[in-house]
Amino acid sequence: MKKKLLHFVFSFLICVSANSCKRTSFEKETNKEVILASFTVLADIIENVAKDEFSVKSITKPGVEVHGYQPTPSDLIKASKADVFIDNGFGFELWAEKFVSNLQIKRVTISNRLEPIFISEDFYKGKPNPHAWISPKRGMIYVNVIVDSLSELKPSKAESFKNNGQIYKNKIAKIDKDFSLFINNLKKNNRYLVTCEGAFSYLTNDYGLKEAYLWPVNAESQITPKRMASTISLVKNKNIPSVFCESTVSNESQMVVASETGAKFGGDLFVDSLSQDNKSANTYLKMLQHNLTLIKKGLN
Ligand SMILES: [Zn+2]
Repeated sequence: MKKKLLHFVFSFLICVSANSCKRTSFEKETNKEVILASFTVLADIIENVAKDEFSVKSITKPGVEVHGYQPTPSDLIKASKADVFIDNGFGFELWAEKFVSNLQIKRVTISNRLEPIFISEDFYKGKPNPHAWISPKRGMIYVNVIVDSLSELKPSKAESFKNNGQIYKNKIAKIDKDFSLFINNLKKNNRYLVTCEGAFSYLTNDYGLKEAYLWPVNAESQITPKRMASTISLVKNKNIPSVFCESTVSNESQMVVASETGAKFGGDLFVDSLSQDNKSANTYLKMLQHNLTLIKKGLN
């Protein structure tokens, strides 16, 4: 059925105009092989390793909620032109299995080479937390996986992927070092990160913070009265100075926590998607810097 749909979409494109007939033979826009990433953060990391060797595109756009995304016919067309699909895994892209099932495409799943942290509560209890990239320390592992994967795809360029990866990792390592230093100097009582989505477990685990959140994964972004009450009581009891939310969801519930407790609202963090504008968090490095700057300001 899906194959038929895909065929229909392609046929339609072939017939849409005589001029476009050549293009509809699915020749690539450039001679470069196309890597299709599942989300913008991953696409940016890949671009920093691939440089000019591949054309890198993302299925989901900046600012979009990724977990429950519904791929469109134009995504299928994009994928039909791509040579490889790279996804995060750990259940992040709930749509990925179905999406690739009818495509003849090579697939690389980053999480196959990552150590998971498991979600400890609610509906997703026992499942791996997918948001590993949110910790700079794990971001450097993403780079290693991508260097190896691109080197397998294009062995003649392995050396330059390795060099690009090293230069990029040095930049992530600087952010990692700055944040570690900040945490080491932070009062023990202030080492709490309270967010909307439980997307920061890798960050809190790697840097010695405790975490609390309003819902475990955005796909289930419903706050229960029990969870609201326990978050409010934690923030009050521990005198937590700031609470945060994320860019792809409403911060309304967290605003309630802030007003009930007297904590500041520390701002919107970026997790699942890069920013739509071209300044605050439109690359992975800027996203890390944006998040860690807000956390530093909020917890100090
Ligand atoms: Zn998420």
